[in-house]
Amino acid sequence: MKDRTLLMIPGPIEFEPAVLAALGAPTTSHVAPDFIEAFGQALEKTRKVFLSDDGQPFVLAGSGTLAMDTAVANLIEPGDKALVVNTGFFSDRMALILERYGAQVTHVKAPVGGRPTIEEVAAALKKDRFKVMTITHVDTSTAVIADVKALAQLAQQYGALSIVDGVCSVAGEELRMSEWGVDVALTASQKAISVPPGLALVVAGPRAMQSFKARKTPVMSYYSDWANWLPIMEAYESRKPSYFGTPAVNLVFALNVSLDQILKEGLDARFKRHRALGAAVQAALKSLELDQVPTRAEFAAHTLSAPRYPQGITQADLLPKVQKAGVTLAGGLHPAIKAEYFRIGHMGPTNSGDVLATIGAIETALQQCNYAFTSGAGVAAAQTAYQETILRFL
Ligand SMILES: *Cc1c(COP(=O)(O)O)cnc(C)c1O
Repeated sequence: MKDRTLLMIPGPIEFEPAVLAALGAPTTSHVAPDFIEAFGQALEKTRKVFLSDDGQPFVLAGSGTLAMDTAVANLIEPGDKALVVNTGFFSDRMALILERYGAQVTHVKAPVGGRPTIEEVAAALKKDRFKVMTITHVDTSTAVIADVKALAQLAQQYGALSIVDGVCSVAGEELRMSEWGVDVALTASQKAISVPPGLALVVAGPRAMQSFKARKTPVMSYYSDWANWLPIMEAYESRKPSYFGTPAVNLVFALNVSLDQILKEGLDARFKRHRALGAAVQAALKSLELDQVPTRAEFAAHTLSAPRYPQGITQADLLPKVQKAGVTLAGGLHPAIKAEYFRIGHMGPTNSGDVLATIGAIETALQQCNYAFTSGAGVAAAQTAYQETILRFL
């Protein structure tokens, strides 16, 4: 019997053996020719995975929060106005970072599980002149997906730079930086990028770089300052050695392998696979009559799901039983409803078999909690929805 469970949380996720092998290879110098080549390739592939024609990639040692911090530190000067399209915990975190760097923050909010309408965001943009607008593509605390395409277009129309927190979306959800006019998108390695935790990835489009270059005050974080990192990223991409801070050598090798796998699958195929995984989980939850945090089907992300516990069943009742049945899931995160729901991650290398195993484990646990349902109904619904979406969509 294998003594590990299937890790189905919204990051870190399960990683491909080739990625883990790269991580375990002997560490080279950060200026060794093969590392320079791998880092250079990883930067080029990062641009491709973000679907950016002309963005500047920054790959730094750190988590997703560092990616958020970096974007804000380099684009905000004290007194700048920022609009936060707020869909949960990570939008709140973005606001805290903005405030830390001196921004005046306005929120457009929705009740938990909802998202502000395009009209509400447009009304806020009309009222004031904002330097940046931030969007959490998938808020991992609510599993709500934002309409980045429409929002980025709106930001552009009102002369605000759009910053997209894509930590739970890049390489899973459809995100087309150049085509949609997104100015900055960012993520972390341990989510759909499918590399163990430790890398922060940011791509800054031309307007964001112009805005950075026009700053009147210094960037208030020494480590994050693009003035320090831009020459390094440019050097590696032109296959030259360079140093500011030691790169996470093994993680960069692993990133290069994972980005290769992502590009080999193809982004359109990958977006579609995530849609199908999302559809499968949604269908299963519906057939098991479990409510979800997103208040409407079209608000539900495809990289994770957030089901509510049935009446009378708590996290302590359910999740340890799911774990015993072989699958690790995550508890709630949004402070307002933390005890009321749990989270299932289904991104990166996750396949339909993983989803069926997960739904099966949830059914086993529900049965042990004496929840009334038709055994196997969730698994059957997931299977049908996955196949239908894969055959039909795109
Ligand atoms: C996970 C996550 C973060 C934070 O990333 P860390 O690597 O934990 O710092 C930020 N935003 C979103 C949307 C996330 O899902």
